[in-house]
Amino acid sequence: MKNKVRAGILGHAIADSIGVPVEFKSRDELNKNPVLDMIGFGTYNQPEGTWSDDTTMTLCLLDSLKKGVDYRDIMDKFSDWFNNGAYTPYNETFDVGNGTQRAIIRYINGSHPLDCGGIKENDNGNGALMRILPMAFYLVDNTPIEIAREVTKVASLTHNHIRSHIACVIYVFIAVCLIRGLKLGDAIDTGVKEALVVYKEEKELTKYDRLVSPDFKNTKRENIDSSGYVVSTLEAAIWCLLNTGSYEEAILKAVNLGDDADTVGAVTGGLAGIFYGAESIPEKWTNKLARKEYIINLCDEFTESIK
Ligand SMILES: [Mg+2]
Repeated sequence: MKNKVRAGILGHAIADSIGVPVEFKSRDELNKNPVLDMIGFGTYNQPEGTWSDDTTMTLCLLDSLKKGVDYRDIMDKFSDWFNNGAYTPYNETFDVGNGTQRAIIRYINGSHPLDCGGIKENDNGNGALMRILPMAFYLVDNTPIEIAREVTKVASLTHNHIRSHIACVIYVFIAVCLIRGLKLGDAIDTGVKEALVVYKEEKELTKYDRLVSPDFKNTKRENIDSSGYVVSTLEAAIWCLLNTGSYEEAILKAVNLGDDADTVGAVTGGLAGIFYGAESIPEKWTNKLARKEYIINLCDEFTESIK
């Protein structure tokens, strides 16, 4: 488990940091000048290896889960990031999603943690999906129903619409299958099928029809959207995983889709890390990752806590 936690979290953080300099760049621009390596500066003018909110919020959750699931503690950690730059590379908060920001402000103003996430249809940005990975390690021995129930609650802290819940649940189902040792294609297939069972009465499941299609892998790149919409981010990540053969290839494909490059990268990178293993992540990237030792220590502390 220790290696899988490290691989998933480092895979996520490194992909995030590779996407940060090109977040919001158009696909056309990246087609002309693709990302081929970890670079610095760009969109947020940060040095190479700088990860963003995706990884910060993932680390908040990972750290909090050491004591079990405590919604208030998770929101306290998100607030500490939002107000004080906790869980960031350089004590600086430079990238906060709108839905996440509204949820944290509601929490600071006294709402119950489970009432903070947006409930409207347009509250379906990818802000819960990009931070949900630690739940897979935490819930790996649970049933699909139990996983769905707890992932939904943790997602709802910032994103409380069923569409976001389903995306997070599918993602965690796939991650759990990978942690249990399934091959990539089988894990994706099983994860999506488990969601079909859990959400069989739910109309919103139709939003994921493309993922359910056996031909999804062959979707043309121009029909893969890399915006911050949660359904698109999940689709883009799975499409990148299905159409590549290594960690490096998967996350470069993801980042070079452009637009919400860091999050599409991070969501892809978490699963790619678990499947291909930490040793598959190029060392030149791991070595440049901001606060690498801190992240590895946090991963190991978490693994100890769930034994
Ligand atoms: Mg980000």
